Amino acid sequence: MKPTSPSLETLQAAAPFSAVPPTPCSSRSIMVKEYDFFKVIQDYLDCAAKVINLQDFVRTILSQPKNEIIVNFPVKMDNEEVRLFKGYRVQHNNLLGPFKGGMRFHPSLTLDDVKALASMMTWKSALMRIPFGGAKGGIKFDPHAVSKAELQRITRRFTHALSDNIGPEYDIPAPDVGTNSQTMAWMMDTYSNMVGSANKQSVRGVVTGKPVASGGTLGRAKATGQGAVYCAIEWAAEKNFNLEGSTMMVQGFGNVGSHFAVILSRLGVSTVAVGDHSGYMVNPEGFNAHKLQDWVIANGSIAGYPGGKAVTREDFFKQKADIFAPCALENQVGESEARLLDCKVVVEGANGPINPSGEKIVLDKGIDIIPDVLANAGGVTVSYYEWVQNKRSESWTEEEVDSKLEKAMIRAYREIGDFARQHKVDRRIAAYALALSRIEAVYKEREIFP
Ligand code: NAD
Repeated sequence: MKPTSPSLETLQAAAPFSAVPPTPCSSRSIMVKEYDFFKVIQDYLDCAAKVINLQDFVRTILSQPKNEIIVNFPVKMDNEEVRLFKGYRVQHNNLLGPFKGGMRFHPSLTLDDVKALASMMTWKSALMRIPFGGAKGGIKFDPHAVSKAELQRITRRFTHALSDNIGPEYDIPAPDVGTNSQTMAWMMDTYSNMVGSANKQSVRGVVTGKPVASGGTLGRAKATGQGAVYCAIEWAAEKNFNLEGSTMMVQGFGNVGSHFAVILSRLGVSTVAVGDHSGYMVNPEGFNAHKLQDWVIANGSIAGYPGGKAVTREDFFKQKADIFAPCALENQVGESEARLLDCKVVVEGANGPINPSGEKIVLDKGIDIIPDVLANAGGVTVSYYEWVQNKRSESWTEEEVDSKLEKAMIRAYREIGDFARQHKVDRRIAAYALALSRIEAVYKEREIFP
């Protein structure tokens, strides 16, 4: 017989975090009227800075990225028309190591979003004790609306436009929304063809998230979902919650969401609700996460998948499930979605999925949040392993990668928990505070040039 999961009341009684009030920072209670992702991240930064009395000069430096690069580049489309594309690369900080972060291809990408995402990469690398800084970039366009040949030309021309600003020791892109290992293969190939024959082999580490045959690492494709699963396992252990026989709902069934669902399904967690840009579906008996993942790879979205009942977005958020994993985009859970949520924990696979108004309601309801900078840090962690393997001309087994990742995730999870209990703050602020204190320690030692 499957053990039953404890009720939310039982969990709350046992929970070390639900008893902790959110950090009393004015920034945490801001009501988001006009959503401004970069401002939201700045407010978290301010809040965590107060908790650790961050030195003003460090706060000042971190308040803006070091470099904001915008490139406009022409690409010949299949119909011979020339289209101009706008690409971004924001390099937030490289104190701890090369700039590092994903490339997003999305029609509504803005410079401010990229700034927010780039700064989160700085916190994530520091939190995970990885010798990288933070960056992010992308192109404002819909990658699903162009042919594969056009996609390749757009990616290569963008890489060419950025070539003086990236490099294996300087700034290392990776996949994000709308990009994947194929995109990285094109980026690496373009870059390596620009550095001269003698250097070609030494620059494979210019991007991570490459296909394994082109110098990628085993375990990278699933790494972000895998890291989020390690967090869910730690959370369950902490709460004495039995994952086997429990339920999850997943928003976004791309790289992060689908791997999260597939890996957790092996531990007996059933996916009862899913959603993506094409719509939402429920199945009280549980979706076959593997088959759904294959479907999305073949068809580009969950639309038309046989074995689920289509529901509205509102109905999706109303579903009862133990775990909610938002793995799509930022600002998906505001006040109204937060009021509907009926789960025990939110595992933030996406960056910034809950806005501050939604977050307040979620925390007030006693729902735990495993924050993005921890929950999705498996991606950058395994990217670091890939970069190290490229440097050393090694290839590690998947078991080695997974076991290193598991240790890194558990350590970060527990450090955040300890900090949160000690300072009576929630996990997001604890994660930011830990990251900031590590960055501050280095600034204090090195001071400011000149
Ligand atoms: P992806 O492109 O593989 O998948 C994105 C998913 O979100 C798709 O299922 C898409 O249909 C869905 N989506 C897009 N717009 C939506 C909308 N308006 N409503 C509902 N669903 C929508 O991207 P990914 O790599 O899985 O990234 C997802 C999130 O995880 C992003 O926030 C990204 O920054 C974050 N992240 C990704 C990685 C990584 O390694 N890929 C690492 C860390 C964080």
